[in-house]
Amino acid sequence: MPQDERTQLQELEVLHPDTLLLVWKDGHETLYRHRALRESCACAACVDEWSSKAILDPATLPEDLTILRCDRTGRYGLNIAFSDGHSSGIYSLRSLRDECPCRECTLTRGKPPQVEGTDS
Ligand SMILES: [Zn+2]
Ligand SMILES: [Zn+2]
Repeated sequence: MPQDERTQLQELEVLHPDTLLLVWKDGHETLYRHRALRESCACAACVDEWSSKAILDPATLPEDLTILRCDRTGRYGLNIAFSDGHSSGIYSLRSLRDECPCRECTLTRGKPPQVEGTDS
């Protein structure tokens, strides 16, 4: 499978105010919870540019946080606006796919590459 299809979006939809659906060109579907997205924002207001330390304290996010809108930006990015007024975050499609929280991807990521015949 070409790498390109893995990291290119077929569809993008805010399913619920708290859930974002990404459908990739290779047919895989990723559901992201708003809070996970908001907390992983890597913009200059959320992560210190010099130290790479998180500035954002997840505890300060409103309980009723929602996704207001989600737009593609360029070929490789997504811009998401949240109800807490934050809309400067750009999320790279590649990292969104690499960090897909679905069971299948989580299991694949958690395992070292399979080597034949090492099961005991
Ligand atoms: Zn941010
Ligand atoms: Zn997945």
